[in-house]
Amino acid sequence: MQKNSKTFAVSSRVSALKRLARRKSPRAAIELFCSRLIKQTRQRVPPFDIDKYAHKMRARVVDDAASNVHGNLEKERGYYVIGVNPRFGLQRKRFTVCHEISHIFFEEASVAFYLRAKRLDRQTVTEEKLCDRGAAELLMPTETFVSFVKGRIPDLTLLKEISSVFDVSRTAAANRIVELATQPVAVVVWFKSESHAAVSLSPKQFSKTFPNLFTVAPPEVKACLSDKAPKSQEATWFGGGRERRLICESLPLISKTEGDYNPNVPVVLSLVRLADP
Ligand SMILES: [Zn+2]
Repeated sequence: MQKNSKTFAVSSRVSALKRLARRKSPRAAIELFCSRLIKQTRQRVPPFDIDKYAHKMRARVVDDAASNVHGNLEKERGYYVIGVNPRFGLQRKRFTVCHEISHIFFEEASVAFYLRAKRLDRQTVTEEKLCDRGAAELLMPTETFVSFVKGRIPDLTLLKEISSVFDVSRTAAANRIVELATQPVAVVVWFKSESHAAVSLSPKQFSKTFPNLFTVAPPEVKACLSDKAPKSQEATWFGGGRERRLICESLPLISKTEGDYNPNVPVVLSLVRLADP
């Protein structure tokens, strides 16, 4: 093996990706590869066509009925095969395919830096998170998304609109609202806790500015679970030394479409924002 900077300067797939992109932050690196792919496929308006992405990356998408995960990536004679679990809804599958495409960026960086030969081609939790980030970028590119939500209140109407226009799950749309928001906004996902009694709900929170807002499910969330209808409530939060009014809108999710949750457990998503920002 030729001794050059590529052979010894890189110790992981994440650093290989950063080096290849010439970026200091891994997030900037993955976003660069995503925006290149979006440009190469000449896509400008949502919904973004994942078949065009796959084709450009020399990847074939197949249903993998034996799969017990969302998706997987295999290499076959210079081509990639993305196996997706057919049990999930179309919008969740679109996210999975884009997540696996993001792994291809790491794969190619790993080849470029001979990581396989050095047995440094292990995928990490960091890579998984970055691939979720990449999937969000491919389906809801920053620029397009930011101009779409500009001047809008981060409420359920906007959430549903993003989900249908960008053809993404409501969870993916909610996470992207938080990621790219310029104002305080949080998403709380409620699901029944396996370790508690059947009525206990556990929140999983993605937040911009807000701390953990709820430790127990408010009555509206429980009502939303049983009526299967959106509910809104006002809540109070002490932030920045003063009392702030919050609006919390809740919506039941369909597990098959969202795909991240146990299908036997009802899930509610709450979007929280300041009443008077
Ligand atoms: Zn993955």
